[in-house]
Amino acid sequence: MQCPKCKNSDSKVIDSRISEQGKAIRRRRECEKCGRRFTTFERAEMASLMVKKKDGGFEPYNRNKLESGIWNACGKRPVSQVDIDDMVSELEEKWSINKKTISSQTIGEDVMTALKKLDHIAYIRFASVYRSFKDVEEFKEELGKLLK
Ligand SMILES: [Zn+2]
Repeated sequence: MQCPKCKNSDSKVIDSRISEQGKAIRRRRECEKCGRRFTTFERAEMASLMVKKKDGGFEPYNRNKLESGIWNACGKRPVSQVDIDDMVSELEEKWSINKKTISSQTIGEDVMTALKKLDHIAYIRFASVYRSFKDVEEFKEELGKLLK
């Protein structure tokens, strides 16, 4: 995304939201060189991304569904809407590059990696749901890795 002012191509996403009933993503960006803020719309790309589920079936990618799963893990944690928006937007950019399908496993792993940087408790909660830890030992093992 080129800056409309200085033409620099590096910008960071400062806010993003779904519009047009989920068919477009509106992003506020900030130029990393001159600080100019501008808005971009991205259409259809994410809407056409298909998720391959564990059982082999497919379903359309749904940002709301993903975000609500993340929010469940973030309950009462010092995590803001902007944190989650940024996180998901960055991941979506990665997922949508030259891809029409993505596995639910990749989504889960990527979200875990990103949550780990954001909030350790939220990460553990998300991981426990995602990996459905079979027992306390498995859970402790994951905690141990985290505390190292
Ligand atoms: Zn600029």
